Amino acid sequence: MNAGEGHDSDPVYLDVEDGRLRIGGDLGVYVELLGLFKAEVVAAREELAGNRLHREGQAAVLHRLKGAAANLGATALAQACRAGEEAIAADTQLDFNQLNEIIRETLSAIEAASGAQRGGEVEKRQAERAEPQWSSPDEGRRTVLIVEDVPSNAMTVATALEELYEIQLAMDGTTALEMAQSEDPADLILVDIGIPNIDGFEVCRRLKQNERTRNIPIIFVTGRSGEAEEEHGLSLGAIDFIHKPISPALLRARVRNHLQMKQQADWLRSASRTDPLTGLANRRFAVEQLEREWRRSLRSENSFAVVMIDIDNFKRINDTAGHLAGDDCLIGIAHSIAGTARDKIDVVSRWGGEEFLLILPDADPKGAGIVAERMVDTVRQLGWRHPAPEIEFVTVSAGSAAMVAAEDRSWESLVSRADAALYQAKEAGRDRAELDMDWPG
Ligand code: GH3
Ligand code: MG
Ligand code: MG
Ligand code: MG
Repeated sequence: MNAGEGHDSDPVYLDVEDGRLRIGGDLGVYVELLGLFKAEVVAAREELAGNRLHREGQAAVLHRLKGAAANLGATALAQACRAGEEAIAADTQLDFNQLNEIIRETLSAIEAASGAQRGGEVEKRQAERAEPQWSSPDEGRRTVLIVEDVPSNAMTVATALEELYEIQLAMDGTTALEMAQSEDPADLILVDIGIPNIDGFEVCRRLKQNERTRNIPIIFVTGRSGEAEEEHGLSLGAIDFIHKPISPALLRARVRNHLQMKQQADWLRSASRTDPLTGLANRRFAVEQLEREWRRSLRSENSFAVVMIDIDNFKRINDTAGHLAGDDCLIGIAHSIAGTARDKIDVVSRWGGEEFLLILPDADPKGAGIVAERMVDTVRQLGWRHPAPEIEFVTVSAGSAAMVAAEDRSWESLVSRADAALYQAKEAGRDRAELDMDWPG
């Protein structure tokens, strides 16, 4: 590859082969990108010539152009932009004439390259791509959100990834946050640092602060370099940095690795809070939620409640029909209870062997009592025959209790009150619910 620098060799205005390989090898796509790039070069030239920009504004235009130019093999222009940025940083005069000359040459090189390709290949390619590929989410495929304000840069990244992933695109910080916080967020986010209205660092900071988006891996894709900046990005929670010009192969490899790690992390997180037999939340997760509800109640002074449910005569199922039948019964009761609880509000957990704990946010004793009764009724109505001859049906007993959190009250005491109420239900003959009356705790 020619370097486009030095005094002996001619400047390389457009290294088509280099540019094509950088964006993944497809000449048709490359030529389409050149079209976008051309518009950018023209716009940048006007911005610079308009003389309305401060030095920082000029530097930003040059920086943007440098990234796109380097990505597409416009070597001389990329170098001129870098030189311009350096001149601005050093507070020396920017050589507009020379820059304009290089822009002019680059534009005509783009013209020539596009003209040469305007044969069959491009049209065929455009027909294939009539539908933008990032418009329709496809079940099962992972989604990558690209946050990038320069169209040709976005296209470079999208082109490298679109065969493997669903691509979403945001061109400013606000849109990026909206998309990441939507119902169906991306699995991984590639963020350019210099983007309009909220910069990439701030986008990262906000996503990492929000519990719902915290676990989405964020990779910065940036034309800037510098250890301090990279350290800052990583300290905000980004998982990696990718520097422009982008190598499609390395981009794909990193995205794949980070998605794989995320999948493993997601699996571990989910496994650590799930009971493997019933699929319900496990005791560890239930305790986390109890702590959380307790803190919430302390702030709001609203009550919350728990219901403890225990299968009646369960040991007799194991004794007469075997352990596997016991397991099946546990799974069945777990589904029945979970199906009766309020979706996404109540937490239904397997607390121990054949005991289930429901956590009811914002419930008072009356509400908790009603839920406990409903659970007992639901299981009775299943009408499952108990395998032991002396017992008619499979039933459960329940105990409920509610509390308003206070510094001298604990969620542990709430659970033991529900346990005591459950014991009363067993004593009173099983297949019933009892309410703890020690209120508010
Ligand atoms: P009660 O009506 O008083 O609740 O009597 P019970 O027989 O249901 O209660 P007990 O505490 O005597 O027995 C509970 C049994 O649950 C004992 C234990 O072996 C069984 N168990 C605990 N976990 C599992 C499990 O995962 N699978 C199976 N099959 N049995 C389990
Ligand atoms: Mg940018
Ligand atoms: Mg039992
Ligand atoms: Mg028990």
